Amino acid sequence: MLKTKIYDAIIIGSGIIGCNIAFELAKKGWKTLNVDRLPSAGSGSTSNSCAVIRVHYSTIDGTAMAYESFFYWKDWSNYLGVKDPMGTAHFYQTGILVFKSPANDYLKKTMRLLDEFRIPYENWNVSKIQKRFPIIDESSYYPPRRPDDPVFGEKNDHALPGALYYPEGGFISDPQLSTHNLQVAAEAKGAKFFFNAGVVEVCKARGIVSGVRIENGTRIDAPVVVNAAGPHSFIINRLAGIEDEMNIKTRALRHEVVHIPSPEGFDFEAIGCPSSDSDIGCYWRPEVGNNILCGSEDPDCDPKEWIENPDVFNRNLTDQAKAQAYRLGLRIPTLGIPRNIKGVVDLYDVTDDWIPIYDKSDLPGFYMAVGTSGNQYKNAPVVGKMMSKLIEQCRKGHDHDQNPVQLHLRHLNRTISLGFYSRLRKINMESSFSVLG
Ligand SMILES: Cc1cc2nc3c(=O)[nH]c(=O)nc-3n(C[C@H](O)[C@H](O)[C@H](O)COP(=O)(O)OP(=O)(O)OC[C@H]3O[C@@H](n4cnc5c(N)ncnc54)[C@H](O)[C@@H]3O)c2cc1C
Repeated sequence: MLKTKIYDAIIIGSGIIGCNIAFELAKKGWKTLNVDRLPSAGSGSTSNSCAVIRVHYSTIDGTAMAYESFFYWKDWSNYLGVKDPMGTAHFYQTGILVFKSPANDYLKKTMRLLDEFRIPYENWNVSKIQKRFPIIDESSYYPPRRPDDPVFGEKNDHALPGALYYPEGGFISDPQLSTHNLQVAAEAKGAKFFFNAGVVEVCKARGIVSGVRIENGTRIDAPVVVNAAGPHSFIINRLAGIEDEMNIKTRALRHEVVHIPSPEGFDFEAIGCPSSDSDIGCYWRPEVGNNILCGSEDPDCDPKEWIENPDVFNRNLTDQAKAQAYRLGLRIPTLGIPRNIKGVVDLYDVTDDWIPIYDKSDLPGFYMAVGTSGNQYKNAPVVGKMMSKLIEQCRKGHDHDQNPVQLHLRHLNRTISLGFYSRLRKINMESSFSVLG
């Protein structure tokens, strides 16, 4: 039951993004309330995240944010500052392998960005890749194809051009637990959470935000409301009446991830690492139980299924799952693909340029941390810091649209402009326009 109280800020959503914003605001002394329609933290799209923590992105700002966030994951317990009785999410620092291909211009730009941030990496040729991962086939199949393509599985007359390996990356095995960790850490600073409470109205008074109304009619007041509703973000923006003023908008995209047992006799769980393979248009990573978890990198051959109503979509695996499994089977020929492929289906909250929106809005007091485009789990710690600084500055009267708020990244000793994530930006043509960000 919610006790009637005065809150400084209501955060709609308690996924990884909403919980990290609560934690960072609560640390600054704000009285926050997260309101979520689901029964517990991280039960939305975060629960099905692959939770890969990588630092390579297609833009300088994207790379800065991901690399800064890496240091928080690496020091997760200390960052939280409290022990969660349910346990603490573990960061497996396995490193990341990224295959070179024409799709990523053989990683020339990635290497420039890694150099810029002095992120250590190694260039691996095919024999080095196979020494570390003997299950990997060195053939090139580019471009990625569907299994029903008559030339699916036909090898090019050259081998893979190699890969980059960098040690400062890995994955979190339990993204939902990490979100609960943030809830507990935020609560320790005074934050409150209200579950099974769907927001149906963003309330306004005299042209400024004044709170939210939930399904059962209860009204909760606060001078600040933050949209962190994940794939439902566009619905909340419509409730607030601010979607039309945004140059960049969000919509929900269905995505399938398959879980396949590692080849027999090979302990992929122990020695595998998250890998991005645009030669076959897939990414994969080790999963507990010696499984391999594999998603699509959105190559042209994979149709995109945009979802009108994020409450109604097919949660069963389809031919898309098979396509991913068969493409992974090209790279790992000893992979036994089960007749009944297992996996998960969930939604990305995607912007027009696959770069998120972390911003204020034209409705005073209403903010958004949305459009996470399938790749912002890892960035949640910096999102929390960004949003708390943005909200604080705007409340003091700062005109963020004219003069974007700056954030100092303490691990990188570098300052970034939050204008990069503006809702008013032009489409950023530097983006990969895919889950790679
Ligand atoms: C299959 C998949 C794989 C991914 N893999 C990776 C990865 O490897 N690495 C990475 O960095 N990122 C990855 N991502 C992206 C990452 O998981 C998301 O960016 C992140 O989890 C989004 O968090 P969120 O808090 O914004 O959304 P969510 O976790 O969806 O939380 C939003 C919350 O808002 C609540 N809500 C919605 N509407 C209302 C309402 N009206 N009232 C109250 N509450 C409401 C929902 O119930 C939900 O709990 C992946 C995503 C998916 C789907």
